[in-house]
Amino acid sequence: MNTHKLIDGKANAARVLLQVREDVERLREQAIEPALAVILVGSDPASQVYVRNKILRAEEVGIRSLEHRLSTDTSTEQLLMLIAHLNADRSIHGVLLQLPLPAHIDELRALEAIAPDKDVDGFHSQNVGGLSQGRTVLAPCTPSGCLYLLEQTCGDLRGKHAVVIGRSNIVGKPMAALLLRADCSVTVLHSRSPSPQLLCRQADIVIAAVGRPRLIDASWLKPGAVVIDVGINRIEDDGRSRLVGDVDFDSVLAHVTAITPVPGGVGPMTIAFLMKNTVTAALAQHQALRSQSEALCRSIY
Ligand code: NAD
Repeated sequence: MNTHKLIDGKANAARVLLQVREDVERLREQAIEPALAVILVGSDPASQVYVRNKILRAEEVGIRSLEHRLSTDTSTEQLLMLIAHLNADRSIHGVLLQLPLPAHIDELRALEAIAPDKDVDGFHSQNVGGLSQGRTVLAPCTPSGCLYLLEQTCGDLRGKHAVVIGRSNIVGKPMAALLLRADCSVTVLHSRSPSPQLLCRQADIVIAAVGRPRLIDASWLKPGAVVIDVGINRIEDDGRSRLVGDVDFDSVLAHVTAITPVPGGVGPMTIAFLMKNTVTAALAQHQALRSQSEALCRSIY
């Protein structure tokens, strides 16, 4: 295998986490202890694994973590009360609501209830709007991780043609906004795009966030393209269950300049950027408090 073509998510995530750990130490020297509250409603097995991994990673980098497990029959109002309590708690800097929520809970209301400055997932409309205006905000973790991998792989992204396949609020749309902010020319493809291969074949950079196992083969790619595969799909292969991406990795490898594997590509970057967002949020909240108290002092004296 051409291992030099692999974009190593684990190694890149380790680099981000090392920086986060150093930032946490600096904050602790100023008596700030970054803290992340994670809310899990119900008992979805995959969500339980994700939450456990987030808590473990937080501990590794020195971020205090608090886990709030709520039963499946929790009402929207009860969830909103917990979020309001966490918003008001100045010792907590990040609030993460693990998705998906049970069907009876109003997901949009719950996500909008999280204070924008504690919204470490970047799903609040204020952060979504800010990102679409090209401002520096708390941006969603998976696309932020993809952008980091692209910057490490391609260097300057200005003027590159990037095709994003998928338009979800969690990955596709924020990915497109981040690439626009990085001065790429961006095309977004989705399930209603006619002839997606034709458009995709024009791309220097392809980000696949579809959720269809091995949908993208060499016929979708310009020779030399850089490919980021966000998809995580479980398939049965020769009686064995395993994970594959949205890209048919083996068949495109000879065709591309660089590609992320699945697993070991984008996955580790998501948690690393959650930690990074938590530290960014802690720093921003501390600075906001300091400017408030300075303004108060000025108004008194
Ligand atoms: P989603 O189902 O919300 O969105 C999928 C998108 O793909 C939709 O916008 C749809 O229009 C588009 N689509 C579907 N079929 C298509 C086709 N044939 N051609 C072009 N577009 C098509 O999914 P999502 O939440 O954005 O996740 C996408 C994938 O990324 C999933 O496999 C998910 O598990 C994975 N994911 C991975 C991470 C990670 O950390 N690595 C994080 C989030 C999601």
